[in-house]
Amino acid sequence: MSDAKKYIEEVYQEVSERDSYQPEFLQAVREFFDSIEPVLVLHPELVQQNILGRLVEPERIIQFRVPWVNDQGEVEVNRAFRVQFNSAIGPYKGGMRFHPTVNQSIVKFLGFEQIFKNSLTGLPIGGGKGGSDFNPRGKSDGEVMRFCQSLMTELQKYIGPDMDVPAGDIGVGAREIGYLYGQYKKLNGSHNGVLTGKPLLYGGSIGRTEATGFGLVYFTKAMLKDAGKTFKHQKVIVSGSGNVAIYAMEKVKEYEGTVIACSDSDGYIIDEAGIDIELVKDIKEKRRGRISEYVAQRPEAKYFEGNVWNHKINYQIALPCATQNEIFGEAADTIIANGVYALAEGANMPTDLESTKKLQKAGVLFGPAKAANAGGVAVSALEMSQNSQRLSWEFEEVDSQLKTIMKTIYRQISETAKEYGVEGDFAAGANIAGFTKVAFAMLSQGVV
Ligand code: GLU
Repeated sequence: MSDAKKYIEEVYQEVSERDSYQPEFLQAVREFFDSIEPVLVLHPELVQQNILGRLVEPERIIQFRVPWVNDQGEVEVNRAFRVQFNSAIGPYKGGMRFHPTVNQSIVKFLGFEQIFKNSLTGLPIGGGKGGSDFNPRGKSDGEVMRFCQSLMTELQKYIGPDMDVPAGDIGVGAREIGYLYGQYKKLNGSHNGVLTGKPLLYGGSIGRTEATGFGLVYFTKAMLKDAGKTFKHQKVIVSGSGNVAIYAMEKVKEYEGTVIACSDSDGYIIDEAGIDIELVKDIKEKRRGRISEYVAQRPEAKYFEGNVWNHKINYQIALPCATQNEIFGEAADTIIANGVYALAEGANMPTDLESTKKLQKAGVLFGPAKAANAGGVAVSALEMSQNSQRLSWEFEEVDSQLKTIMKTIYRQISETAKEYGVEGDFAAGANIAGFTKVAFAMLSQGVV
């Protein structure tokens, strides 16, 4: 065992003892640690300065109570977090997730991944993430507003345009960002770029809503191109039906691929004629309904309960855009048997460790989340630039920057993989490329 490997295992041992109750966080650390040995072999100063030991410990975690009054006049209490993980290359940046599964393990895994994702964008943003176990499903607008106001009353003490800039994630879209921003402004008396994903009426960036989905498809297109393929006439399954999934489907369609399925947490629809994206938008965005409602208007489509990744049907490209660990157990075998040759992650860590290995071993082109879904946060950073300039760019400007960023990320991770002797392993390439920049930034700033 090399000294570098020994060091990695020592740090892993320590973090897994300290955070033994945080399985998702440990999973993200394990996946990352498995790739970076060659960097440490080349640069023993990173070992000497205990960069990994520092990297796995967030700079700061804020946990707080969010009390609010529901429509029945009862007082409810939720728990919220902000993990300010790493600010070596810029202010903390990352979304807020509202979902009943949110706990410290989830926000730490997301925050940890965000450090390297943000580094890959090439923009000056550090890693952060937050969220709450509040469940927006079935809540009225008034309840969501009161919850957001209460959350921001506390959170505003810890964020700022040059310090920490939250945004959306699962359960947090334009409506929630609007309420959060309104409360921030009321308490601070000023307009500034403290949140991204704002509505266009007051400082939002055009193209931010579409950015993660579009960016995912720009990335995948670059990955396919290198393998001599395109989206044209390919069948694609996209999981999820939220913001990321919807705009990924739209871009696949523009590139003449056919999306035959999408899903929500209850089940999925198969529509071999191609998903009617406007109908999905209508159900999920306007009605805040369930994907099962789709078949009422498209009788040729079929609804199934369960996980779309276990469905047996022939297709070529998989874009998981729902949530963490949605591909586990037998799913990877089914995906391979279905004939899939490319998979790119629109969600954060949708493929568990074992499934990632299975897919890569079977020769499936694998685009890891840190790289493939970085388009959202990249356009968030462009929103920060526009806010600082007090300007709004045109859609073409934002979209062309997004395209360039995603193509550059692909090139960067594929070249890095080659350079470090793991050609074609884009997950390793993303980890190494994302890590190198952050590690040397930390090194140059001393022990802080
Ligand atoms: N939540 C998104 C992500 O996972 C976007 C974060 C942002 O725009 O700050 O990257």
